[in-house]
Amino acid sequence: MIKYFCHDHHLKLEKYDSVRDAKKQCQACILRIDSYDFYNCLQCDFILHEVCAGLPRKLAHALHRHPLVLDPSPILDYHSIGCSTFGRDSNGFGYKCSKNDCDDEITIQIDVRCILVHDCFTHKSHEHPLFISTSYSRKGTIYCNGCKDIVRVEYYMQCTICTFSMCYRCATIPHELHYKFDPHPLSLCYGEDAEKTYWCEVCEKEVNPRE
Ligand SMILES: [Zn+2]
Ligand SMILES: [Zn+2]
Ligand SMILES: [Zn+2]
Ligand SMILES: [Zn+2]
Ligand SMILES: [Zn+2]
Ligand SMILES: [Zn+2]
Repeated sequence: MIKYFCHDHHLKLEKYDSVRDAKKQCQACILRIDSYDFYNCLQCDFILHEVCAGLPRKLAHALHRHPLVLDPSPILDYHSIGCSTFGRDSNGFGYKCSKNDCDDEITIQIDVRCILVHDCFTHKSHEHPLFISTSYSRKGTIYCNGCKDIVRVEYYMQCTICTFSMCYRCATIPHELHYKFDPHPLSLCYGEDAEKTYWCEVCEKEVNPRE
């Protein structure tokens, strides 16, 4: 049983039941509950994927120079342009800059779905790890190897070894995400060093709630 920071009731880890749980949706990423364990509120309809419940309150992200904080209010509410990666609207949780006086030209807001695609991501369609890249520094047109379309926004995934690229839209196709993050979210590529990347000033335990 856990107590999630923005919810008043206690949550219980449940085994997925394909009949009972087929229509359930995670509050953080707004994706269906899939075949993995999930947290179910004992008193109301609040539901989270185990992976999403374990996301850190604060993290460093490749797309922004300040740490980002988890904000359970929908991205739609505080800005109308959607997620910074490709403008998708989300009524789930998002991350935004931890600094009130952030001086970046872009108001960064990243939904949980895109946060699940972290640096050093392995997509099932490609054998090498991908890293988060920005097209500012690159010349020429970048094509996504997933949808074959031109990558129109500056953020995308680039292979560490070859020329394979993937847009955020393709990288966040629901089915891939939780599969890739099971069973150790946020430590997939970093292994033992995960704590160095995901840190928290408020409480060390928030960083890795599994411990
Ligand atoms: Zn989720
Ligand atoms: Zn509840
Ligand atoms: Zn900032
Ligand atoms: Zn997003
Ligand atoms: Zn694509
Ligand atoms: Zn490659």
